[in-house]
Amino acid sequence: MLGLLGQTGKLSRSEIAKLLSLGPATVTAQVRKLISDGYVRELAVDARSGAGRPRIPVELIPDAALVIGVSVTPTSLITVTMLIDGTILNARSHVFDPSQHVVEQFSGVVNDQRAALDHPERVIAVGISISGAVDQALSTVRISTTLNWQDFDLGPQLQRAVGLPVFVSNDLFALSTREVSFGFGHDRDDFLLLGLGYGVGLGIVNRRRVFSGSGGSSTEFGHMSVDINGPLCVCGNYGCLQVYAGLAELLQQAPGHPAAGNLAQLQARLEVDPDRELVEFMQEIGHRLGRSVGGIVNLLGIGTIIIAGETTCLWPAMSEGFNRGLHGTVLKFLHPVEVTVKTWTESEDAVGAAGLALHNAISLNVPLHARGRLPQTATE
Ligand SMILES: [Zn+2]
Repeated sequence: MLGLLGQTGKLSRSEIAKLLSLGPATVTAQVRKLISDGYVRELAVDARSGAGRPRIPVELIPDAALVIGVSVTPTSLITVTMLIDGTILNARSHVFDPSQHVVEQFSGVVNDQRAALDHPERVIAVGISISGAVDQALSTVRISTTLNWQDFDLGPQLQRAVGLPVFVSNDLFALSTREVSFGFGHDRDDFLLLGLGYGVGLGIVNRRRVFSGSGGSSTEFGHMSVDINGPLCVCGNYGCLQVYAGLAELLQQAPGHPAAGNLAQLQARLEVDPDRELVEFMQEIGHRLGRSVGGIVNLLGIGTIIIAGETTCLWPAMSEGFNRGLHGTVLKFLHPVEVTVKTWTESEDAVGAAGLALHNAISLNVPLHARGRLPQTATE
């Protein structure tokens, strides 16, 4: 509802009900709650309403609350501050070392981000997005191979350090949640979000809900084994998608590409003068991805795919193979499949984390600082 109001401006309760396919009683109850929580306000009676019951439009109070989103790479923390209508106030990058004093480094960047605001007391939650398996109910990291973390209770520790609710989630889950509220969800109820970066992941959105496994586990699309004779994966199995399409693995295996080569160098080579071996290598990765995603399309009957992540800058080199793999796999009655590639920016995952924190903070009823109802933790 907040995402809708953020995108469209003022709406009456009946317009909200229609646009979100909700019952009038549900909308009335939710709007009443959002008004009493201070996120939404009523405006003067709409002149358009004519005869009958007057329609009172409501609108967001965009700066009523803010959330901080943090994404993590092996060398940096990216932070953003987001208003409740999805507007990003600022994005920053900080040097990060995942091997030591992790909670101190996180609390440092969260406090810096808060200190830069006119109303730091309006920050209601922190979201953290991590590539790896996360127990989202407990905000703990089960395993992240890119950060070399295992069974790490990051959420509870950081919550104590900064005095705010902290929600740790898998990066694809966070991005998918944000798309539901502020992106694709505007006119789609079901879609798949293929994340291509250091990890390979798939967010599944069905009836506007992001799928999570039992106990809040994240989906592990990258560890789907696609070749029993393939190389050993960090997970201990053989031939996972990750060993072909993970960004580090892709860079290491690209023909004629030095192991130390980076993404920008490979992108430049593909754009300027790619040799045949390199072109085929990239199309083969696309093909494996297309076949795997095609299987999921068949399984779930969801034929809308968004592709996001750092590796999307190489997409032109993979798309033909991807489409071939996809169309050779997807059942005919599910055609046409719609594929959209999102432009990737460095702060994308942090924005996803902020979107998830906002969603959780509001649905879990975190009180607004701005209304003078400080949570216990903030005054300790
Ligand atoms: Zn694996």
